[in-house]
Amino acid sequence: FAINMTQLQLEEELGRGNYGTVKKVLHKPTKVYMAMKEIRLELDQSKLNAIIMELDILHRAAAPEIVDFYGAFFIESCVYYCMEYMDAGSLDKLEGEGIPEGVLGRITGSMVRGLKFLKDDMQIIHRDVKPTNVLVNRKGEVKLCDFGVSGQLERSLAKTNIGCQSYMAPERIKGESQNNLGTYTVSSDVWSLGLSMIEMSLGHYPYPPETYANVFAQLTAIVHGDPPELPEERYSDDARDFVSRCLHRVPELRATYAELLDHPFLVEDQTRAVDMPGWVAQAIDYRDSKQREQLEKQQQQHQQQQ
Ligand code: ADP
Repeated sequence: FAINMTQLQLEEELGRGNYGTVKKVLHKPTKVYMAMKEIRLELDQSKLNAIIMELDILHRAAAPEIVDFYGAFFIESCVYYCMEYMDAGSLDKLEGEGIPEGVLGRITGSMVRGLKFLKDDMQIIHRDVKPTNVLVNRKGEVKLCDFGVSGQLERSLAKTNIGCQSYMAPERIKGESQNNLGTYTVSSDVWSLGLSMIEMSLGHYPYPPETYANVFAQLTAIVHGDPPELPEERYSDDARDFVSRCLHRVPELRATYAELLDHPFLVEDQTRAVDMPGWVAQAIDYRDSKQREQLEKQQQQHQQQQ
């Protein structure tokens, strides 16, 4: 069945990304809550139609580690994309001061299985692996979203914020600077996975912008510097070795998904007891208390200015 706007009751805004807003909606015929992403594109009807058709293959991308796709439609020059509502939001906001090893193992296992499914069963390379594109729910499920399925959509979204916080592998950064987009392979996603794990361990992006004079210096650090590592004090040798297998500068030397699944870090995850719903609940509390603090600070500053 095809979803359209008249079936949807709009609820609150869930977030804003680079390309548009995400709202919670109720699909009235099925009473299912969904997340609806609005992407504003200045395109003609035929190109919008092409995007909707390309997105259709997402109906086949059904796996426990992939956010369910419910359908897409366009109105005027906006594409609306409806997906499974994940009630804990994206991982970047749940990192707190760093995610403990057991939880990191669970999350990583889901990410690797999701990425392997996309590649083996769908012939899709994700191309945008980062904590913002990993969604979580209160049940403790961890799922990937925002992967590149529509060539037309990718081409239409202006790639404005290259740099800043780049999860791109060194070979991609070099390729982009030479205008060579053909260098993207599945192992570029493995780099981004490793970098995302470091971010999850620290609670922030591993290459802090303030330590570099500019974006160019940061990209140079990614391309030429030693790859970052998991902090020694808080993570086991297995966890640290796992990440180092992802963050090789030479793409051919990075582990494959099959090798990562066989790595002791993920083998142990299969038998380790981890209270994921408990972790999600406390991560949400921490996130919300930080947000409240920030809001109060802003209000105080506002009052002082008046
Ligand atoms: P970006 O363009 O930066 O990847 P998105 O536009 O995809 O960001 O999403 C913006 C925010 O909306 C996310 O950070 C997340 O908090 C929220 N969000 C996105 N998709 C969902 C979803 N399926 N369920 C719940 N929240 C979501």
